[in-house]
Amino acid sequence: MSHVFHRLPKQTLPVAVSGDGIELIDAAGKRYIDACGGAAVSCLGHGHPRVVAALTRQAQQLAYAHTSFFTTQVAEELADWLSARAPQGLDHVYFVSGGSEAVEAALKLARQYFVERGETSRRHIIARRQSYHGNTLGALAIGGNAWRREPFLPLLIEAHHVSPCYAYREQRADETEEAFAQRLADELEQKILQLGPETVAAFVAETVVGATAGAVPPVREYFKKIRAVCDRYGVLLILDEVMSGMGRTGYLFACTEDGIAPDLLTIAKGLGGGYQPIGATLVNDRIYRTIVDGSGFFQHGHTYIGHATACAAALEVQHVIEEDRLLDNVRARGEQLRTLLRERHASHPHVGDIRGRGLFIGVELVADRETKQAFEPGLKLHARIKREAMAHGLMVYPMGGTIDGVHGDHVLLAPPFICSESDIERIVERFDRALAGALSSIDT
Ligand code: PLP
Repeated sequence: MSHVFHRLPKQTLPVAVSGDGIELIDAAGKRYIDACGGAAVSCLGHGHPRVVAALTRQAQQLAYAHTSFFTTQVAEELADWLSARAPQGLDHVYFVSGGSEAVEAALKLARQYFVERGETSRRHIIARRQSYHGNTLGALAIGGNAWRREPFLPLLIEAHHVSPCYAYREQRADETEEAFAQRLADELEQKILQLGPETVAAFVAETVVGATAGAVPPVREYFKKIRAVCDRYGVLLILDEVMSGMGRTGYLFACTEDGIAPDLLTIAKGLGGGYQPIGATLVNDRIYRTIVDGSGFFQHGHTYIGHATACAAALEVQHVIEEDRLLDNVRARGEQLRTLLRERHASHPHVGDIRGRGLFIGVELVADRETKQAFEPGLKLHARIKREAMAHGLMVYPMGGTIDGVHGDHVLLAPPFICSESDIERIVERFDRALAGALSSIDT
């Protein structure tokens, strides 16, 4: 019996022993193409020699220094690097160890900002249905995923949910993108008015939705309209780019493509590329100044913030991405992957939607392409696809279940930024076999 309390205790998982570029190798020597970067994490693949060398150097020099005693050169350099490239005004970097911690920090920064200003009634957070922001209790409260929240009710934060910008399911047949975006912005405005603007602290959204519905990008103009509504009522805009940020969409920060800057921005996964656990909350100058000039410090902190080896790994990952011009590859290979999938599945009876940006691509499976009727939840099609894919030496990230009453089966593809044209062809070929195998196992 394993003494590890596994996440999926009833499954017997292969033992991963090594990594080689875009592949993972198990104890039996079987190779798996990591076509999802684990969970959109491994942006440089596995065993990158430059990152391994940077980590070794830093561990030899200094692994850890507590942040109430010291800062480190490497944390300062990483913060400089990020703030020099971040959307306008996001000049301050609060380091954490992962995505949920980044979201918790953003929520507390928003709250403390208003407390410092004497606006203590601003405590409500508005988020969106079908979203995921992490599993700690604050992040869980704002996540738009009722089945995850329910066992832990009542939660600590007063969160309210509005409709997601999920064009495949929510945009009406007779509605333009512009009208759809406007309807959603109006819904947010109504929610703020209903709660009372003086009680709302922030609106939180993933720039591109990741772990609930598979790489759902916003329609054009959506975030510009949302930004305008937030500004009208003094509500902070928090964008969660834990999954979609750090180059995954072909832009270092996904919201660049939407032409806006949030007040707070969370990043994690691709920041350290899986070489070390690290995340960050980027904070605009207005929030930073209010807190520093007010009570003088952010009432928050963890033991491992700004950990030196984590910062060294992240800094080297980001240098490699920039020096090797990998974001160009993300855009080109992403286009190739979407095009290949669309060519092959243009008339597939069970492929409802293929969407995404860069190397962040979602495939939504449906029982009926015309009506968009989902498969029976009990069939767990997404899990079958994952199993079949693993059998074919391919890792894809399955998502499924009933989220706020909407059932769906989705697969997320998020391969490393280093993948080549022929790697993409191999991914599509194995994915096709996994999909066919999973569908034939339920005898459609
Ligand atoms: N926010 C988003 C958008 C995520 O996709 C995730 C994880 O998938 C998180 C937050 C939580 O990150 P972590 O699992 O590192 O705590």
